Amino acid sequence: MTKSIRKTVPKLFITFLSLALALLLGLWAISGLSTRFGMNARLKLLAINPIPVIETYGAMCYDVAAPTSIPRDCDKCDAGVEVADWEVWSTDRIRALVSEMEDEGHDVILDIVVFCEECSEQGSAKHHVSFGIKFTGDEQYYMSESSIVNDYVILLAFLRGERSYTTSNDATVSLRRELAVIEKMTGLGHGR
Ligand SMILES: [Zn+2]
Repeated sequence: MTKSIRKTVPKLFITFLSLALALLLGLWAISGLSTRFGMNARLKLLAINPIPVIETYGAMCYDVAAPTSIPRDCDKCDAGVEVADWEVWSTDRIRALVSEMEDEGHDVILDIVVFCEECSEQGSAKHHVSFGIKFTGDEQYYMSESSIVNDYVILLAFLRGERSYTTSNDATVSLRRELAVIEKMTGLGHGR
């Protein structure tokens, strides 16, 4: 190795490290902003942050209760419908999670309706959950449809600036595994 290479290689390495560190610090600073710009930075930081998240396994759940149904009225034609009780439980959880987002200062909207078999496009009586979020006052709500409770648990953890979330059976999972869910629920990460 010549003298000049011995000098240049460590210099390049230090330059690279400094740039990477500056990028991380920059993203971290911007990710504190609750604007769409800041939230996009938070999503990027989540994807590239080299500090590992410690994940844990949750307890296995063997308790399978017999499904029962709860009578509701179709929101379109008023016909009486039977909706599965786990679905009612899910929508109650989603309402609670979205109201936590609202309490923590996020601009979110939620619309849950029940359709009978006739009115539902899927051909079975069920809940339809529409969720909207926006990060700055003058933008349109980004709308998505999800009746999966976990999607809202993931989003709430992301909005809180956390790097992991807790599943229903108490496992700790890195949010990096859920970037697609965060993008689906917010429209972030698509140049918006
Ligand atoms: Zn109906």
